[in-house]
Amino acid sequence: MNITIDQDRLTRELDELAAFSDVPAPAVTRIVFSERDLQARAWLKALCAEAGLDVREDAVGNTFARWHGSDREAGAVGTGSHIDALPYSGRFDGTVGVLGGLEALRALRRAGLQPRRSLELLLFTSEEPTRFGLGCLGSRLLAGTLDTSADETLRDGEGRTLHELRTGAGFSGSLESVRMAEGYYDSFVELHIEQGPLLERRGVPLGAVTAIAAPASLRITIEGQGGHAGAVLMPDRHDAFLAAAEIALAIEHAALSTGSIDSVGTTGICDIFPRAINSIPSRVHLEADIRDSDGARRDTMLDSLERACTEIAERRGVTIKREFINRDAPAACSPKILSAIAASCEEHGLAFDSMVSRAYHDSLFMSRLCPTAMIFIPCRNGYSHRPDEYSSPEAIAKGTLVLAQTIAKLAEK
Ligand SMILES: [Zn+2]
Repeated sequence: MNITIDQDRLTRELDELAAFSDVPAPAVTRIVFSERDLQARAWLKALCAEAGLDVREDAVGNTFARWHGSDREAGAVGTGSHIDALPYSGRFDGTVGVLGGLEALRALRRAGLQPRRSLELLLFTSEEPTRFGLGCLGSRLLAGTLDTSADETLRDGEGRTLHELRTGAGFSGSLESVRMAEGYYDSFVELHIEQGPLLERRGVPLGAVTAIAAPASLRITIEGQGGHAGAVLMPDRHDAFLAAAEIALAIEHAALSTGSIDSVGTTGICDIFPRAINSIPSRVHLEADIRDSDGARRDTMLDSLERACTEIAERRGVTIKREFINRDAPAACSPKILSAIAASCEEHGLAFDSMVSRAYHDSLFMSRLCPTAMIFIPCRNGYSHRPDEYSSPEAIAKGTLVLAQTIAKLAEK
């Protein structure tokens, strides 16, 4: 079988998709269930139909485009990613896996493949946490790891519920129905930009992802005592912000102390109340993200943060409340798929590195359902989630070629 990737077409389609944006290029903003998101989905569904794929959507807007195999009873081989883009981000995160996945299916059709298993492109709803504060919404629901009460409890910044927003966007039905049946997929492979610098630095065109890091996200609320910035003497203060600053440093310290480069901790949100220059902060709201590819090591960081919070609260006379937004287990990727990726790279004379995904992806949740792995391609300087995110057409075409070859192999197994 001779697979050729239409690099020009794929590049053009990535450009077209990037134009569905609420901000001027090169930045991209495409929030789930927004007008732009719905326009981009309609455009993508038309492309899938044009490619002869059977398109359906579930109650949360996860979109499936299927090429029926000769054995309709056999579990399908899935591939895909997301097209939502956080504010002022780039044009390759997620989209490479969706449009690359579509081009892989088209390339296999051109090559004359007649797959035994069905092949399916999957577009996940809301991989980014922008709107609902929780990432991987669509894949969590597919995997059944998110309680369906989320329909009413998840709200956007304007207070609208997931139920309101999804039905308004035309996705009705119960959230229970989103859950994917056992055996639906035999395997799932996601193509994605690395979002880190390693492949580019090493001059290696592809990465085979062996494990996906497990994020834990926390809300931390610190209550101290406010007061006049001039009148309250320093020894008498219970400054909520200074406690918060120590917590942020404790998170950094926890990540640095594990001895592993795969441990990371970030305090990304810090809201201060009452936020006045001449007022002592009485309350602070922090949100922090702690992750590792090793679940036990990640929990060591959480324990160390716990101890630091207890100590800081006591010493500073403040109260510190912790609440998990999510605390997911890491995923190990499937050896069966990894060996198909390795064989595909070899057939096309492409070098690859085995690596860990420090970012989390819908594949983390797909791995709860079926054997899963990811293929990474390099991106310039490792930049992602910013307008200058970039992967070259050649790099994307190589990833797409290996993806196509890999799913062709899996379809026959
Ligand atoms: Zn992504």
